[in-house]
Amino acid sequence: MKALSKSVAGPGLTLSDRAIPTLGENDVLIAPTYAGICGTDHHIYEWDEWSAQTVPIGIAVGHEFVGHVAAVGAAVTGFRVGQRVCGEGHIGCGLCRECQNERSHFCAKVQVIGVNLDGCFAQYIRLPERNVWPIDDRIPDVIAAVMDPIGNAVHTVSAAQVQGAHVLITGAGVIGLIATGVAVAYGARSVTVVDLEVGHLEQATAMGASAVVDAREPDWMETVKRHSGGEGPDVLIEMSGAASAITKGLALVRHGGTAALLGIPAQPLTLDLASLVIFKGLQVIGITGREVYKTWRQAEELLVSGQLRLDAIDFKILPMVDFERAFDHASTARSTKVLLTVGLENS
Ligand SMILES: [Zn+2]
Ligand SMILES: [Zn+2]
Repeated sequence: MKALSKSVAGPGLTLSDRAIPTLGENDVLIAPTYAGICGTDHHIYEWDEWSAQTVPIGIAVGHEFVGHVAAVGAAVTGFRVGQRVCGEGHIGCGLCRECQNERSHFCAKVQVIGVNLDGCFAQYIRLPERNVWPIDDRIPDVIAAVMDPIGNAVHTVSAAQVQGAHVLITGAGVIGLIATGVAVAYGARSVTVVDLEVGHLEQATAMGASAVVDAREPDWMETVKRHSGGEGPDVLIEMSGAASAITKGLALVRHGGTAALLGIPAQPLTLDLASLVIFKGLQVIGITGREVYKTWRQAEELLVSGQLRLDAIDFKILPMVDFERAFDHASTARSTKVLLTVGLENS
């Protein structure tokens, strides 16, 4: 099969032939059709410090996909060949306290496809049956391919409990835009989105934001307060990972409010915890992955009911052979979701 792998310890990826994965009795073999390029893939592509310490040389990259079941192990009962599926890419150990409490997203031994294990930029990928998710017929392929980042957005917004709240979202990349739609669907009183690019702010408006604010304006923090009931937002949803967005976002949240942090800072950062968090009594929640499978059910419900629509997000679809162009595009257009056609003809 063809797969896009990290074959040398340096920037770039290699498209090459490799063996189709063999199946254990509880495994499902999936032939991906569309696979999404994510920020994580970018780190691996560029081979930054985190990747060099984390990613084994030789693995196929990629963790967001939709595809069809190509084969099932002898003990698999829940899936049949040909069924349309995607999968939870975080594979918990199944044995620790968190896994046993159905909180495998907190498993300290979690392994992630395309990061620690072979991923989905390949004509076939193997997943344990418990990580495979059937796709509702009403969800189209390009949306199903990005259930992973949709899940990140749903997880963040639901953890922050936005109903009736003034919500501030910092960062209108793909996940920030999806979070905007989710916050609206979950009954936020107002949703203010901050970004540095006018195009992204227009997309946020199309996703239902009640106000958008350009953080290049000198008085943007005052504008956010004005749009959030005067006192500042009840909830911060931090999607950018930018140090200034994190500190200023925390500074804006009203006393007693909540901050849910998903964006990953490139470097360790220094925060005035006393004034930003402790004396304000903020609840700060770190978000990783998705709740398995609570978040997946919530995301499916939002999509199938039409409460969450992703029309404002641009999708760019390129064949896997054009991966260099696709990665270039994904790095420059934060609010565009780039998909690779993997198993399809001419890919
Ligand atoms: Zn991802
Ligand atoms: Zn575990």
